[in-house]
Amino acid sequence: MKVKRLKRANRLLTFYKYNFKFLPPYRVLVDGTFCNAALQEKLNLAEQIPKYLTEETHLMTTNCVLKELEKFGPLLYGALVIAKQFEIAECNHHTPKAASDCLAHLARRAASGKTKYLIATQDDELTEKLRTIVGTPIMYIKFKTVLLDNVSEATKAGSTKDENEIKKLKELKKEIIGVEEVIKKKKKKKGGANPLSCKKKLMKATVEAVRTGERTATGKRKRTKKKATTVE
Ligand SMILES: [Zn+2]
Repeated sequence: MKVKRLKRANRLLTFYKYNFKFLPPYRVLVDGTFCNAALQEKLNLAEQIPKYLTEETHLMTTNCVLKELEKFGPLLYGALVIAKQFEIAECNHHTPKAASDCLAHLARRAASGKTKYLIATQDDELTEKLRTIVGTPIMYIKFKTVLLDNVSEATKAGSTKDENEIKKLKELKKEIIGVEEVIKKKKKKKGGANPLSCKKKLMKATVEAVRTGERTATGKRKRTKKKATTVE
């Protein structure tokens, strides 16, 4: 079950990597609802999220999220304490906006910019909005664990490569790397001294080494070098 969950995460992250240039370290933007759910489920986000994404991760939030949590007072004080531990992503909202508007704004900016965000929320309305923004990975808490949302229809439509294509690309890459390694090995052989041509000398060296009590390996190495220079 656990392996399946991580495999699914890996598949989704690969999709976002190939189509939307999501690369680690990942930036995960959390809102108050997500922090509150983490508190209820006793999840340590700083520990669980990097484990789930299996890469270096920066947990972030925005000033608008913090301001909104402050407004709720004691009701969401625990969530506020959690959110305050995280880095602040600049949203440039001088007058604080509703947290959901702020995060949707950052997701839209991320879709066209270099700074990519995964958005972590339990807010259904925000989730629906995020699903319309192409290339936005969404994270939520369910079954006492963090999970990535399935790729949204909008994102699927806006992506150039589907998951099968990515699989093929990965296999092709593996093949190319495999071929390169074979070529490298062949080249190495070519460059080195032909073991057959210096077989006699090597034998002599080994015999000599045994006789003189010198270690075979050292003798071999010396002889091979000499042979290589004389051939050239
Ligand atoms: Zn904001």
